[in-house]
Amino acid sequence: MSSAGAAASGAASAGAESVDWAALRAVALEAMEKAYVPYSKFPVGVAAIVDDGRVISGCNVENASYGLTLCAECTLVSSLTMTGGGKLVAFTCVDGHGNTLMPCGRCRQLLFEHSAEGMVLDTVSGFKTIDEVIPDAFGPRTLVAYREESLAE
Ligand SMILES: [Zn+2]
Repeated sequence: MSSAGAAASGAASAGAESVDWAALRAVALEAMEKAYVPYSKFPVGVAAIVDDGRVISGCNVENASYGLTLCAECTLVSSLTMTGGGKLVAFTCVDGHGNTLMPCGRCRQLLFEHSAEGMVLDTVSGFKTIDEVIPDAFGPRTLVAYREESLAE
């Protein structure tokens, strides 16, 4: 938990330079060790900082039916909700060798739903904002804007 605390410092501001990425990556590696991957043998761990400073993590959980497999981001978002909600400000994802992984398309949408504006992701091509990894995304801010437009009519 000490590494989690270190990762949380400076969490309120979302800039990539304010995040202790090594500490956040350590939390993701710890989560990766808990992955349930009897079929693919491809463990994944993720970790994120919430806008209140909490550090949350997740691992992938496979299923014999394959199609029901949960990506690590799924368990991370469940953990976010179960531990008080909030918005994600920083995120990292690692494989079984500790290499950086890019979230799949579905998980970019999952993360977008719970992202703070300007959320930063540690990706295979450097630090990127949530809007860079899922441009023009449909999400909760879209629905808010739609409702406001509807009320104005
Ligand atoms: Zn995924």
